[in-house]
Parts: sequence; C-alpha cells; structure tokens
Amino acid sequence: MTTDFLATVREAVRDETTLRTALADAEIAPLLMSLVQLTGDLDLMAEVAPHIQGPWSFLQNVPADLRQTVIDRLVAALQDYASAGRAAPPRPAPEVLQTMMSAGVGQPVPADYIALLLEEMSFGGEDTRSVRWRQPQPPAARAGFRVVVIGSGFGGLCAAIRLKQLGIPFELLEKNADVGGTWLENTYPGCAVDTPNHFYSYSFQVNNDWSRHFSRRDEILAYIREVVRVHGLREHIRFGVEVTEAAVDPATGHWTVHWKDGQGGSGRSQCNALITAVGQLNRPSIPHIEGIETFGGPAFHTAQWDSSVQLAGKRVAMIGTGASAMQTGPSIAPEVAHLRVFQRTPHWAMNNPNYHLPVKPGHNWALRHIPYYSNWLRFQQFWASSDGFHASLHKDPAWTQPAVSLNATNHRMREMIVDYVRGELGGDEALLAKCIPSYPPYGKRMLRDNHWYRMLRRDNVSLETDPIARVEPGAIVMRDGTRHEADVILFATGFQASKMLWPMTIRGRDGLTLREQWGDDDPRAYLGMTAPGYPNLFMLYGPNTNLAHGGSIIFHTECQVRYIMQALRALIEDGLGSLEVRPEVCERYNQRLDEKAADMVWTHPGVTSWYKNARNRLTVTSPWRLLDYWAMTREFDPAEFV
Ligand code: NAP
Repeated sequence: MTTDFLATVREAVRDETTLRTALADAEIAPLLMSLVQLTGDLDLMAEVAPHIQGPWSFLQNVPADLRQTVIDRLVAALQDYASAGRAAPPRPAPEVLQTMMSAGVGQPVPADYIALLLEEMSFGGEDTRSVRWRQPQPPAARAGFRVVVIGSGFGGLCAAIRLKQLGIPFELLEKNADVGGTWLENTYPGCAVDTPNHFYSYSFQVNNDWSRHFSRRDEILAYIREVVRVHGLREHIRFGVEVTEAAVDPATGHWTVHWKDGQGGSGRSQCNALITAVGQLNRPSIPHIEGIETFGGPAFHTAQWDSSVQLAGKRVAMIGTGASAMQTGPSIAPEVAHLRVFQRTPHWAMNNPNYHLPVKPGHNWALRHIPYYSNWLRFQQFWASSDGFHASLHKDPAWTQPAVSLNATNHRMREMIVDYVRGELGGDEALLAKCIPSYPPYGKRMLRDNHWYRMLRRDNVSLETDPIARVEPGAIVMRDGTRHEADVILFATGFQASKMLWPMTIRGRDGLTLREQWGDDDPRAYLGMTAPGYPNLFMLYGPNTNLAHGGSIIFHTECQVRYIMQALRALIEDGLGSLEVRPEVCERYNQRLDEKAADMVWTHPGVTSWYKNARNRLTVTSPWRLLDYWAMTREFDPAEFV
C-alpha cells in the first residue's frame, strides 16, 4: 500500500458514484478501520463500536445512519488525500491499534497480539514473513546447497517460494500430475473450504477476487495454480514421482531420497536438507467392514471420487458424518433416489450465515481500492476463526456438567447449537437426539452446517445410527439384522492422519525409521517440525500442528516455513553442515504440550477422534493458540540444536 497508496486512492475517488455503490456493499468494520487509520477519528469509532458484537459481518448490526456517516466521512477522507496528494498516514500507535482491533471484532484483543497481527495484516504491503540473508551478500555456499521438498500442496509451495527467494537450489517432488495436494485430489461434490478464504490464503499473495467467503475447490485450486505461475515454480517440480524412502547419511547429515514413478521407473535425489510437505489428510482411511469386497457395486472414498459413477437415481449409502460428508451429503441428496447416512458419532456443526454467500461486487471493489480494507478484513477473519474462543476450550475443574461441556461458555455454545439444530430439524426431537453429540462442542472439528439438518428432513434421506455389522452383495447389514439395499457406497471415513508421513520410510542417523520410533500413532517432534536423530529433516504440518480450534493451516505453514528457512540460513551462512534438535529440547516441548493438552477439549474422555492416540495423547492437533505457535516459531534458536 505504501508505494501505490496515492494511486489507489485516486483510482478509488475517480468516480464518486462507483465509490459509493461499492461502499454500500462493503463490510462496516473494515470500512470503519480504514477511516480511522486515514483520519485518526477515534470518536466515531467509539460511537460505532457498541454495534459491533463480533468479528463476523453478520454480528455487526450498525444502524443505517451511523453506517452512512462512516461512508460519508470515508469518501471525504479519500477525496481529501487524493486532491491534496497526501502520502499514506503513519501506522497507528500500538495502543491505538489495540483499540481499533478490539472495536473491529467486538471483543478485547490482548496487546500481545499486536505484533502478530501487524505481521499478518502487513499494512505496508511488504512480505513480512520472508527470511533474508544476514550478510550483505548472499553466501556463495548456497549454490552448493540443495533442498528437496516433498509435496506441492500449500505447504510445499510455500517452502518452494521461500527457497526461491533466498536463491537456494531446490527440487520439489510431487506424486500427482499437478500441484494442489489435497485441493487437487478432493473433487467430491460440494468440496469447499470452511475457513474464510480471505484468511485461508497466503499472507504474501492476497486474492481480492474470491467469489465466495468460503470458496469451492476449483477456485482454491485456481488460486494455487496462479501462485505457482506468479512465482515460476513449475520448472522446479518433478511430477508423477512418489517418494518411498529417504535416508540420512550420519556422517554428513545429507539425505538420499528414493522415489518411483507410475511406469515402473525409480530414481533418487540427493540433498543437504529435506522438507516433507505431504499433509496429514491424504491417505484415505477405509474401514474394514466384513464382506465389503462382496458388495458388487461402486464403493469409493470421498477423496478418491469416481466421477464416472452416476449417482442420479441411485440408492447411495454414505458412511461417516465428518467434514467431507457434511459437504458431500447435501450436494448429492437432491439427485439420488435415496441417501442413507451411516453415522457412528454425531459431529457438532454450527450455522454461519456467510457460508453460502457469494462475495458482493462492492466488497471485492473495496478490497482492491479502499486502503487498509483488505488488511482489516484479514484480521477480522483471523480473529473470528481462531484464537477468539481458544480460552473457552479449557476444562473448568469446578464445572458441574463435565460430561457434556467444559465450562459455562462452552455450555452456552452447546445450548446455542442445540437450539439452532432443533429449528433446522423442525422440532423433530427424535432426530435431534440422534444429531446432538454427547461430548462437548469442539471435541472434534466444529463443522459448518452445509444444510445438513435440512437434508436429513428430506423424504429421500435417512440417518442410521446403529452399528454396521457387514456388507453383503448390494446391501449394508446392521447388527440387528436390518438390511439396507444400496447401489453405491461412499466412504466419508476420513484419513490415516496419525500414521504421519506414512507410507514413506524415513530413516534417521542410527538407521531407525520414524515409524519404528513413533509407532503407528505416537508421532512427536519439536514444534512439529524436527525430531532428534533426523538431522536436516524438516516437517511441514507434522505432529501436533493440525488446527482444530480454528484458524488457517496456511498460517501455521507460513510460521513453519519461516522457521525452516532460518534454520537453512544458519546451515549455509554458518557452514554448519547439519542441524539436529537436542533430545531434551524435543522432550521438554512435548511435555509442555501434553500438559497443555491435558485440560483441553480434545482430551475429554467422551471424545473419540484421530486427533489423539489410543492412550488419549494428543498427537495430531495443536493445543496452542496461533499466537503461542507463532511466538515459538518466530526465531530459530541454534542453541536448541546440535
Ligand atoms: P473425519 O472428520 O475423520 O470424519 C470421518 C467420519 O467417518 C466420521 O464421522 C467417523 O466417525 C466416520 N467413520 C470413520 N470410520 C468409520 C467406521 N469404521 N464406521 C463408521 N463410521 C466411521 O474425515 P473427513 O470428514 O474427511 O475430514 C477430515 C478432515 O479433513 C477434517 O477434520 C478437516 O480438517 C479436513 N476437511 C476439511 C474440509 C473443509 O475445509 N471444508 C472438508 C473436508 C475435510 P467417528 O466420528 O465416530 O470417528
């Protein structure tokens, strides 16, 4: 915004009718913040603030006359900047920023968020998380240094962008024929993001053209491809090769990465450092149900959608009621003859009025033309979808209803959702009882209601909650013997998340593989990124980095990539050869993590999920606030490494 500030403002005021038409569509909180930043007018903010009752736009019911005042003053301020040719205002003082942040989300924002949010919002338009060489000239040693990145989803591409910026040679190995990772692979009907995507996108590559607040898969994939184009990454990617094994040379800390292609060929790549970016949620989990192989009709997982199978007019059985089912079910229900949903455990799902809404044209216009509007919108979405309610996910030891909720706030959330679901189900109490989880809200990922409950009321949809006994040709048979005929089975049964990095074999310094070290369900790493015995190996989206309270995994990715780039910088600038996290550092971190997780919702005894292992240890999901993880990963500390 600094360099283009005046040009942007002049473009904004070029035609006042266009400007006012756009502002009529725009969201009030970011408009107000833009005005305050341009004018320093805190009085009007104080008047509007009581009407902003939360970070989501639908919680901001500002009376029409006040809204008009904000718009009129903003128009005047922009015209004044344009005609006077004034430069961008200085960034507000920290205490003013904190007041603005709190007013903008209708909740007090603690001062320790200011630095994080300034970075996330990047008022100056600079790439705040990029890592630079500390020496005036980039070290020549980087030319002989080579990095291999596995995976070209959001994580791997972020790493590739940063490596390219630093001029570190790298190769990206991708098993698929194109980029995108999970967004390439998942093509099931209704596939979309459920984190608001003005925040679910790279901080350094803001997209002001999203057509929806929660975009569909194709649009996200198009965004990813555009990122690849802009950063010129394709030439660095070897497509169609799946890494089977990687082994470190204990003498040098360098890695040999073995891969195979789909045509029976194989090869290997050598590197000084290895970055895995293979995601957690891409190895489908298909339950072992007796007789499944006898079914006879199409049976496939949502993440391996078979578009050659016509569902129209078919009797479809869908097993699972998680995030993928939530999107698939309501998308196919209108066309199938019958949809029978097999639910093992109900999930919590909330209403978000923005979930189905397109972005209004004026909102997109404001994102492009109104200074700071896009930055403040990103902040609002950050707050709305993450740390804003983290405190309510702790167990209150004095709470009187510990089986169903954690504390008073969590209980209010429970009641609010129950009321909503009751309304959606038209007061059908029997169906309501089947749909409401016995465990506290947020015990598993909180879903966004994709008209799921309305779907359950359709004549051609039924919900089965008894256990499945077996599959027979053309039918699913329940434990009580009831036989449900079906033409197609859809497995919306999730992924093998806890078998992290599986099926790759990652062999460390002592010849031990990560699988031998972790078993199938106890992955541990320092900050989710590095493990003792595995020098120069860095994991993106590794142990305990999944986000279940909310937030964008891209935020975590950017934190991780910054940390890893700092580590690589230390390797190259300081000629270190190899870096291996000290065992006691990793152990202490995991102890702290376990202690933190112990009183949180995910370890609640009533919750069964893939977030934790059979011993109730949280292994996949992060117990930290985004703020905590950001602070822990902000500065790579070489003293923690050998
Ligand atoms: P999931 O959340 O793990 O849900 C799997 C479902 O299958 C659960 O309802 C589970 O029941 C059920 N299930 C598993 N094994 C079963 C069995 N043997 N018999 C009967 N039911 C069984 O998987 P997902 O829906 O694919 O979502 C996984 C993650 O992917 C999400 O948490 C999210 O992080 C991501 N995702 C995001 C989006 C989005 O942004 N919109 C969309 C899709 C996925 P239980 O609950 O009883 O285990």
